[in-house]
Amino acid sequence: MRLSKLFGKTLRQTPAEAENVSHQLLLKAGMIHQLAAGVYSYLPLALRALQKIENIIREEMDAVGGQELQMPVLQPLEMWRETERDLAFGKGLFTLSDRRERALVLGPTHEEVITELVKRNVQSYRDLPLLLYQIQTKFRDEPRPRGGLMRVREFGMKDLYSFDTDEEALNITYQKMIGAYKRIYERCGLDSVVVEADSGAIGGKESHEFMVIAESGEDVILNCSKCDYAANVEKAESVKPRGGEGGGGSEKGEMLPMEEVATPGKITIKEVSSFLGIPESQTLKAVFYAADGEVVFVAIRGDLEVNEVKLKNALGCHELRLAQEEEVAKAGLVAGSASPLGLSGVKQVGDPSITLGANLVAGANKPDTHMRNVNYPRDFTVDLLVDIATAQAGDGCLRCGAPLLTTRGIEVGHVFKLGSFFSERMGATFLNRDGVARPILMGCYGIGIGRLLAAAIEQYHDENGIIWPTPIAPYQVHLCPLSTDNEEVAARAESLYAELKREGLEVLFDDRAESPGVKLNDADLLGMPLRVVLSPRTLKTGSVEVKMRGEKEVALVPMKGVSGKLRAMLF
Ligand code: ATP
Ligand code: MG
Repeated sequence: MRLSKLFGKTLRQTPAEAENVSHQLLLKAGMIHQLAAGVYSYLPLALRALQKIENIIREEMDAVGGQELQMPVLQPLEMWRETERDLAFGKGLFTLSDRRERALVLGPTHEEVITELVKRNVQSYRDLPLLLYQIQTKFRDEPRPRGGLMRVREFGMKDLYSFDTDEEALNITYQKMIGAYKRIYERCGLDSVVVEADSGAIGGKESHEFMVIAESGEDVILNCSKCDYAANVEKAESVKPRGGEGGGGSEKGEMLPMEEVATPGKITIKEVSSFLGIPESQTLKAVFYAADGEVVFVAIRGDLEVNEVKLKNALGCHELRLAQEEEVAKAGLVAGSASPLGLSGVKQVGDPSITLGANLVAGANKPDTHMRNVNYPRDFTVDLLVDIATAQAGDGCLRCGAPLLTTRGIEVGHVFKLGSFFSERMGATFLNRDGVARPILMGCYGIGIGRLLAAAIEQYHDENGIIWPTPIAPYQVHLCPLSTDNEEVAARAESLYAELKREGLEVLFDDRAESPGVKLNDADLLGMPLRVVLSPRTLKTGSVEVKMRGEKEVALVPMKGVSGKLRAMLF
């Protein structure tokens, strides 16, 4: 490709609106263009990289027996009602209606559509297992599109769906897919880790995410300092340090009688604990949520934070948010001094941390007052006692007890064991060996193509630009003749361009009459893996100057037989 003809211009300045490195560099390199919030055009260079990623994914999906098909983007909303996932996706679902007022959805994922398709095509155990996939545009009305290609509203995804006869077969398929995913990221040049994950709106019981470790990542990962436990914070479980009296010990302290204590103007846990001279872990925190509009009282030990994903799962609700003051008041409660003591008429959820240690300080349900020596279950109980705490660095690993660590990551893929969630709701069954109808067991497996590309740039760049891993680079070689007004340079560059292409290398040829500074800056910014410079100086020795984008050293390579040398450096 000749740079003089390439559609898309590099920018001198870093665009101010860019939020992270990949966003900055993709814009600066002229590879993407934003049309609306979270809606992008991919210019030719970006598209080539995306297509390379897609091809790697395709090869690995085919290698484990996947068959590619294509399902519609337009889906009847009716189907989503059947599984109640219209509620689970909520406002994230892009909906529209046709000329006959029939409600449609722009597909954010395809479990319903594929279940319906497989239901029509599978009769017996002989038709299984099946692995079906597509690479297609998905639509999600994200509340906060951000980070360039990281979180968009229209994006390419590879989604594969698996269909098995029983749990054991599903487990085998699931492991096979995890293996394929690891190979995909490795082939794309990415370092990834697998973590336990929450299943979110997709449904099902077990799921794992693939994370690219990056400071700019939206996700927080907790991993054990000793064993191989790793989980998204949305899901992570941990052993909390003991709190309350007897903190640190294995036995609870003796339960003392409850007593009122004046706490004038002290509302937050921090204020109350420092006023009373006690650790935050000896207080009980009360938080109010609105779950599908209904007020819920949540009690957790003062030093811990509520994990809203866990809470949402525990309540089985679709929409969860902090309750507004009016809602709390309407439920007959006083925010700021709320207490589980004597509470009634409101659903109460407690984290097991409130049962560790003894003699906590809790609100007294009247202003400027708290209660000392509150003990569960002596003084109050809850409707639901379930882990809803956010795991923190330093907590103990549930498996081995060693301290947990935290890192940030970008979720580049997600695999789910769906089980019979969709097949039961949609009646997708098969006849087993005994002629008995059973629900087909499913799994689903997604990779965001654009997010993977952005994650690669987050992992591979320097202050001058992108450093593409060779397998996903738009072109392999950046051919950069300097002083093209020199006729010999121009002629030799043309013939070298033709030769490298003939030898099967992918070449971006900077044939522009620009200054060396501009050309070398653009080469760094665009980030092709191998830069080949031709100049009057190199020609004197019959050679070209070759440099890998990620390295500092340059080497002079004789023009004769140069393509073989380049190939050896690249692959
Ligand atoms: P997230 O938690 O980041 O919102 P998700 O869990 O909703 O993602 P999945 O339904 O698991 O996403 O989708 C599969 C993959 O699609 C994700 O692992 C991610 O790589 C990609 N993906 C999901 N949402 C987006 C988005 N809004 N923009 C770009 N890629 C996305
Ligand atoms: Mg996910």
